[in-house]
Amino acid sequence: MPRLPPEPQIDWADEGVPRAVAFGDVYFSRSGGLAETEAVFLAGCGLPQAWESRDRFALCELGFGTGLNVLALWRAWKKTRLPHAQLHISTIEAFPLARADAARALAQFPEVADLAAKLLARWPVRTFAPQRIWFEEDGLALTVFTGEAETILAEMASARFDAWFLDGFAPAQNPAMWSPQLLRQVARLSASGARLATFTVAGEVRRGLEAAGFAVEKKPGFGRKRERLEARLAVRPPDVGAPIYPCAPCHPKRVAILGAGIAGAACAQALARRGVETVVLDAAPELGAGASGNPAGLVMPRLDRGGVLAPFHLAAYLHAVAAYEALGVLERCQVEQRAEARSAEALADLLADPPLPHDWLEARDGAALHVRAGLVRPLKAIAAMLRGASLMCEAPVEALERAGAGWVLRAPDGRAMLKADAVVLACGAALARFAAARFVPIALSRGQIEWGRGRAPAHAMTRGSYVAPFDGGVLFGATFDKVNELAGEEADEAALSSARKRNLAALAKLAPEIAESVDEGALRSRAACRATTPDRAPIAGLVPDAEAWLNQYAALAHGGRIETDAPPPAHAGVYVIGGLGARGLTSAPLLGELIAGEMQSDPPLLPRAARDALHPARFLHRALKRR
Ligand code: SAM
Repeated sequence: MPRLPPEPQIDWADEGVPRAVAFGDVYFSRSGGLAETEAVFLAGCGLPQAWESRDRFALCELGFGTGLNVLALWRAWKKTRLPHAQLHISTIEAFPLARADAARALAQFPEVADLAAKLLARWPVRTFAPQRIWFEEDGLALTVFTGEAETILAEMASARFDAWFLDGFAPAQNPAMWSPQLLRQVARLSASGARLATFTVAGEVRRGLEAAGFAVEKKPGFGRKRERLEARLAVRPPDVGAPIYPCAPCHPKRVAILGAGIAGAACAQALARRGVETVVLDAAPELGAGASGNPAGLVMPRLDRGGVLAPFHLAAYLHAVAAYEALGVLERCQVEQRAEARSAEALADLLADPPLPHDWLEARDGAALHVRAGLVRPLKAIAAMLRGASLMCEAPVEALERAGAGWVLRAPDGRAMLKADAVVLACGAALARFAAARFVPIALSRGQIEWGRGRAPAHAMTRGSYVAPFDGGVLFGATFDKVNELAGEEADEAALSSARKRNLAALAKLAPEIAESVDEGALRSRAACRATTPDRAPIAGLVPDAEAWLNQYAALAHGGRIETDAPPPAHAGVYVIGGLGARGLTSAPLLGELIAGEMQSDPPLLPRAARDALHPARFLHRALKRR
């Protein structure tokens, strides 16, 4: 399968209504697409009445198409929502429309022109990565999944959608979108009482829905269509194969975040947009201890040829670019990623079949040019992300103590500092101080960068090391030096000067003409420790109760089966984000969004396999399998 999703071929001959050539069907009806959406889908799901008294409502659409249904939902939501209520729309599309085609289609609906302009300005990128787009002013989160509907649904971790729009092309032309297996997934991912609407009353769709547990009802159709379908799922089917990695929402009102680095700040921002109060505590006297005190860092993607984390890395990059652009802190200098000897074949393969479209990724002389990538100054980004949070500096937390359903944070002298409903450990290496997280295998690596006068490159370049244009000069690095626990985290003078020599040597190899222009005497250096994990993937999730977890799942050590339905043991309300390594600026915004969403039981963002590969419980699981 190609790494880019297929583009649909559109025929516009039909009175300006887009028709998908491959399916011989239209995206919306000739006789008033918006009115049809309202009559078939919104009314079919009992909207807007169904969400009128709800703080949160989650809906899933199969067939994003032009986004017209989303605009109709958005318009109705704006008019009728409770202040502070949030609507999550998840939508799935296998053949993403180009922005220009969507714009052409939506231009026919002046009633929603303002919303269409906002959606088109943030039109999803054609790539196999989930994309969550927030329209915070309206309490609306749109999550677009790209791929075959049945596969995307099957890969989704547990969800409780309140309503469904089934808007694939007609079943006769597109049976894959209406299969009994797909409809069973719809039921699995529904809340009890979920409503479903569709334009078709085809017998196999009705039978498939009934077999999945829905009660179906034919209703008078819209326009030239005689009938439409409404369905309701009284009781959701029981979960089969309960997850063994903990993920229980805690719906907090106040969250304490330990660590005011990029991970903590991103999490605070994601919680603030959900109306949750956040207090961010850091042991340092001011912002910018650790790697976040570096003058700047690169935001660029990790490209994987495949594997469960490939969609995560793409999604993280897209999310980071959008987040930093929205905050006005991305300096889009572009990044040319050149192949290192050991990865030359992989990069060539990726360029021959790229996972991102041309306006994001260009092949140039055997290198990948990341057109939208750039530099971020972490302090600026963190300050912007913390706008909605309370910040406490010089506030080291020594221990967490259960207090009712929440947690009390204790200072080193035993004093109670704060009570919160949930805690996020985003404190890098300090994670190991907390008994609950001691099982997490974090290692430290010291990274040093240099910056100062020199000829600024036209764009940043990387090949293991990197150089970027910075304040009219250059910024380059970075070293990876294992931190010896005994020697401590601080680098001494000798270590700093050895690291500088290695950085200069690496620059001379990467960009000799720039290396020659560098004014070595005026260079500045900074070294900071990054937290890394043995599998080089970051860690994000609810912290399992290690001992109880290992006991509960001990049978896995001998290839045994899990007999219990008991939820995976966890320190309820304690989350971790860590091990971001050298990619913290790129991965933090999405990880923050992931954790904030899980606290609130928002619909899933990542495929289950990717989600599991980031979960802290994976280390316990591996330890069991090794026994
Ligand atoms: N709701 C859309 C709108 O508001 O414009 C119209 C949807 S159109 C009738 C059907 C959509 O389903 C198309 O965009 C098509 O590409 C998509 N589609 C078709 N087969 C699919 C599949 N197997 N998985 C996911 N999407 C599919």
